[in-house]
Amino acid sequence: VARKIPRGGVVSSAAARRLPVGVRKRSLRVVVTGGAGFVGSHLVDKLLARGDSVIVVDNFFTGRKDNLAHHLDNPRFELIRHDVVEPILLEVDQIYHLACPASPVHYKFNPIKTIKTNVMGTLNMLGLAKRVGARFLLTSTSEVYGDPLEHPQKESYWGHVNPIGVRSCYDEGKRTAETLTMDYHRGAGVEVRIARIFNTYGPRMCLDDGRVVSNFVAQALRKQPMTVYGDGKQTRSFQYVSDLVDGLVTLMESDHIGPFNLGNPGEFTMLELAQVVKETIDPGASVEFKPNTADDPHMRKPDISKAKSLLNWEPKVSLKQGLPRMVSDFQKRIMDEN
Ligand code: NAD
Ligand code: UDP
Ligand code: UDP
Repeated sequence: VARKIPRGGVVSSAAARRLPVGVRKRSLRVVVTGGAGFVGSHLVDKLLARGDSVIVVDNFFTGRKDNLAHHLDNPRFELIRHDVVEPILLEVDQIYHLACPASPVHYKFNPIKTIKTNVMGTLNMLGLAKRVGARFLLTSTSEVYGDPLEHPQKESYWGHVNPIGVRSCYDEGKRTAETLTMDYHRGAGVEVRIARIFNTYGPRMCLDDGRVVSNFVAQALRKQPMTVYGDGKQTRSFQYVSDLVDGLVTLMESDHIGPFNLGNPGEFTMLELAQVVKETIDPGASVEFKPNTADDPHMRKPDISKAKSLLNWEPKVSLKQGLPRMVSDFQKRIMDEN
């Protein structure tokens, strides 16, 4: 049935790319799955600002209509409530596939749903890309490296992942999504891109999504102690969302498949992060130690030399610069709650 659907006069991504940048005759039609979420909504802002037509496909599990409210009157914007686990027919030039809960609290809430989203959802979007000749970008994750035995992590590292643990629905799910992506590229000629995203923060994160930056910022603003899991010596590298979005678009437009690490190499222990949040929000903020979760990676830091040399991309916003921009958004939303 799918193959009988006409192309509907869409300029294919191949046709669009034959025109030099800047002289495209018409705007691209782009799908962003998961576009109502944190990263997706910032990506939609950028694509609409450059003149593309954007369709968001989202089931609103962790995304919010509020994140896109400012585009609802834009004739180049469409919002579809749809679960990517089910097939969908659309006519588009590019697919940014983000749909998947990203916070460990959310992805562990219903692990079977998470792995279905990663496997069946990615399969459907690749099937769609194949049918209409669209270019497909997968937002994979640094979690494919698991609890890494190599530090910092390069794209050539195969990872150290527990296949039967509580995080496996997400990290093994994303590894399978990467496999599907490469198999559709090699086997069906689909043009693909793979980004491995490292911890990213910024405005519009869910206030209570359980990730460390959103937790610490919301806790400090609410005058609650910041919850440090374990001894707080585990490390992460935090990227501001505008840097990520620039990287995703640069990758999509490039001639490179990847995978590419997209992250900020600035590495912090959770105790150091708590200190930066304290200096930014409230010098009186305190910390409280809680037991850590299972299979928590001890350290994580991207080696971004591949993205630097092939995409000419690197992050510009440091944690100390990015955090205040997120704090003002959280402050407003916490005040609205009260
Ligand atoms: P998010 O939870 O804010 O956004 C995910 C979006 O996907 C939400 O709008 C949600 O409603 C939607 N979604 C989930 N399951 C769906 C389904 N079955 N069908 C349709 N929509 C569905 O997360 P985010 O931080 O914006 O992450 C976006 C993508 O980037 C995810 O694929 C995530 O794995 C990846 N990523 C993010 C980070 C990060 O630090 N933010 C790090 C690594 C990878
Ligand atoms: N699919 C989709 N939209 C499309 C084309 C395909 O959702 O426009 C789904 C399709 O239902 C299938 C998956 O993508 O579940 C993989 O499609 P493909 O054509 O590669 O495989 P097949 O349908 O032959 O199993
Ligand atoms: N963490 C923490 N306090 C919190 C939430 C998380 O100390 O309130 C720790 C968590 O144990 C992990 C790190 O912060 O070591 C990053 O966790 P997050 O859930 O943000 O992302 P992950 O990198 O694990 O996907």
